[in-house]
Amino acid sequence: MCRPLGENESARANFRSSIFYLAEAIAECWKCSDETKVYCILLNNDYQEREDRRGAWTDVKGSPVLLYDVEVISKTASQHIAEITGNRYRLDYSQTIEASYFMNHCESCGIRQGDYFLHDQMYGAFLPRSHEEVAAISLRAVEAELETYAAGSDRETASIVTDYFFHGVIPEWTAEDEEGRQTLSDCE
Ligand SMILES: [Zn+2]
Repeated sequence: MCRPLGENESARANFRSSIFYLAEAIAECWKCSDETKVYCILLNNDYQEREDRRGAWTDVKGSPVLLYDVEVISKTASQHIAEITGNRYRLDYSQTIEASYFMNHCESCGIRQGDYFLHDQMYGAFLPRSHEEVAAISLRAVEAELETYAAGSDRETASIVTDYFFHGVIPEWTAEDEEGRQTLSDCE
């Protein structure tokens, strides 16, 4: 399912980096209810970003970002991702948005796990709302050049995840909330 990055697609890229992280979490499959590993790309401290294909690349430092609705991943990076994920994070067609993007697939039944359920929905695997959920996300460094086009990005969660993973910082909103289910918006 991995395709080489064509000239036109490479020109579309809005993020690029010489190293990236693959974030891994556990989600419950909406179809078979089994737990399955799910993945997404995280850029940590030092990468480049641009508004659109005509825009200039700008250096970004100290502002981690988590990417979703990823439509393009350069070839070498996608080969690494395919190897790590058992090719379960791959391009697939979404009837919901009528477009193809990189999607997770259930380890048990193989069904698509849409990014909306992982990144946008309350209690999504990549939208942690408790200490336990933050701790369940791990990061793996992939030392490969990455060029990618991602329609979605989440800096708030990326900071929470990297602060916890690299520095053991427990997010304030979980430390303050004994129930462990406080939402971020409650703290704003
Ligand atoms: Zn399943």
